[in-house]
Amino acid sequence: VKSVAAAVVPGHRRDVTTFDATPRTTVRRLADRASYDVDLVHSILDEGLLAHVALNDDAHGPVVLPMTFARIDDRLYLHGALANRVLRGVADGQPVCITVTLLDALVMSRAAFHHSMNYRCVVVFGRGVRVTDRDEMLAASAALVERMEAGRSAQARVPTDDELRRTLIVRVPLVEVSAKVRTGPPIEEPDDLSLPVWGGIVPMSLVRGDPVLDGLP
Ligand SMILES: Cc1cc2nc3c(=O)[nH]c(=O)nc-3n(C[C@H](O)[C@H](O)[C@H](O)COP(=O)(O)OP(=O)(O)OC[C@H]3O[C@@H](n4cnc5c(N)ncnc54)[C@H](O)[C@@H]3O)c2cc1C
Repeated sequence: VKSVAAAVVPGHRRDVTTFDATPRTTVRRLADRASYDVDLVHSILDEGLLAHVALNDDAHGPVVLPMTFARIDDRLYLHGALANRVLRGVADGQPVCITVTLLDALVMSRAAFHHSMNYRCVVVFGRGVRVTDRDEMLAASAALVERMEAGRSAQARVPTDDELRRTLIVRVPLVEVSAKVRTGPPIEEPDDLSLPVWGGIVPMSLVRGDPVLDGLP
């Protein structure tokens, strides 16, 4: 999958190990939680199954929609129906912001004020383009299916040309990107430590359940 897409989209850079912080990707509050490390960003994107895609729609104002996504090298791919308003906006090159969040723990402080969450999160700013190259569309489609289960793209029927015509696939380059990570226990005020309230974290994870066959012949 990777080699096909890399071959049809020139210009992806494997030499970059850190994203440049820009005025809008510079984390200001709790900046020690920020990272621009490419490997960390990729690991968060590759673990996350859900992206939130935000546009400022001229007609309707800001809108954020959850979507599946896939990464190939330094590009994110989104797909959906041709009529999808947000995707059409991305395909038209409107500025887009995409976040992917992994929730790792609930952080329980003795004080209401210090309750928090442990997380790994990526924010991407950019502009997308519609993918029209058939090979790149097929590579993106395969990458999206691979998110469900490794090896699935080799099993599932490949999209027909008609299905490709009815699908809007957009590519957003990973150029202006930040990650933010919180780990560890809650912050506690010294005076709160004697309170009869427990403090600590509740680990959270997304768990893959046992498959349930559809029962169709
Ligand atoms: C699961 C979860 C729950 C959270 N809950 C809250 C909450 O209840 N209240 C709250 O105020 N904040 C919460 N945050 C943190 C929030 O995402 C912002 O980081 C925080 O609000 C900082 O806002 P700011 O205006 O100071 O942003 P700034 O630090 O000024 O943001 C500047 C730039 O930093 C980068 N950046 C900021 N936040 C993130 C991020 N999370 N991931 C990657 N890049 C980032 C972006 O590029 C952004 O444009 C939560 C984060 C997560 C992942």
